[in-house]
Amino acid sequence: MPEPKPLFNQVKIKVKAASICSSDMSYWLSESVSYRLNPPVILGHEGSGVVVEVGEGVHHVKPGDRVIAETTIETCLECDACMNGQFNNCTRRKGLGSSANGFFAEYVVALDRSVHKIPDHLSFEAAALLEPMTCAIHGVMEKADVRPYHTVLVSGPGPIGLFAAQAAKICGATVILSGTTRGLPRLKLAESFGIDHTINSNTEDVTEVVNQITKGRGVDVAFECSGAQSAIYACMESLKFGGTYVWLGGMSSNNGELCIEYNKLFGGKELKLIGARSTTPAAWNMALRLVEQKKMHVQELVTHTLPLEEWEKGFGMVMNREAIKVILNPELTIGEKGVQK
Ligand SMILES: [Zn+2]
Ligand SMILES: [Zn+2]
Repeated sequence: MPEPKPLFNQVKIKVKAASICSSDMSYWLSESVSYRLNPPVILGHEGSGVVVEVGEGVHHVKPGDRVIAETTIETCLECDACMNGQFNNCTRRKGLGSSANGFFAEYVVALDRSVHKIPDHLSFEAAALLEPMTCAIHGVMEKADVRPYHTVLVSGPGPIGLFAAQAAKICGATVILSGTTRGLPRLKLAESFGIDHTINSNTEDVTEVVNQITKGRGVDVAFECSGAQSAIYACMESLKFGGTYVWLGGMSSNNGELCIEYNKLFGGKELKLIGARSTTPAAWNMALRLVEQKKMHVQELVTHTLPLEEWEKGFGMVMNREAIKVILNPELTIGEKGVQK
């Protein structure tokens, strides 16, 4: 690929850290999510780096600044979603790593208003995780109405689930996080972050434990972040009457098709169903303030750093759940030791 040039209102960034997301795995493995993907394109939508060049009209960052970038690089600015600042829902939106070249490269070009300076204390690796954090914040703090007196179930202790559980905790809720035996180390990590209860869904009945904790009431809000059919059911079953089910990044297998007891759940139980797709500039603002105030555990989620050339190994580690987050660093060469924790 030729080295990119920043156009008007664009910023060229030398990539220092790019994180592998499970949606990158889906893009790589299947064509079922191709509605978001516009190949040929360089993947990678979670990254950080240093500004090396700015296009005309860019004033808020300069070469040498440590930055992260929202993935939005182009929107129509005309549609209803754009008028409301919800660029995630613009149908003509172009995003880094899906419809425009992303972070799995030495350089990336981002839109100026999508670029933010990184707080000094935050490493490039941790900064790369702000994108998934903002997706969790969008779901928890913008889409769902989590209150301090709520009990919340987060299903799936992947990166989104770990951030969603923390965000719900920051909102003051009592938080229950469920995962499988394979996710036990992640559940332990969540406990160290102060998450109130964890459930191993392979050995415990999620709904039963939820009923014990909530004295039979059920949870007020359930965030489904795993995409597993059994977990989707467990969330619906665990919700109270009138509770809110939030689809949060859990890409369901089976091409997203799901058979549910529609009458029983939505008619009989008056559940509310909310989708939380991607993120918004407002959620980025919230995420930046939360990390500035050191209210989110981020660095702990980075378990491996690899040279960009070893992307395939990194994808494998994400797929077999060996890693929580794998960072690809284009400046490392094969054989060099990355940060291992
Ligand atoms: Zn992602
Ligand atoms: Zn638009």
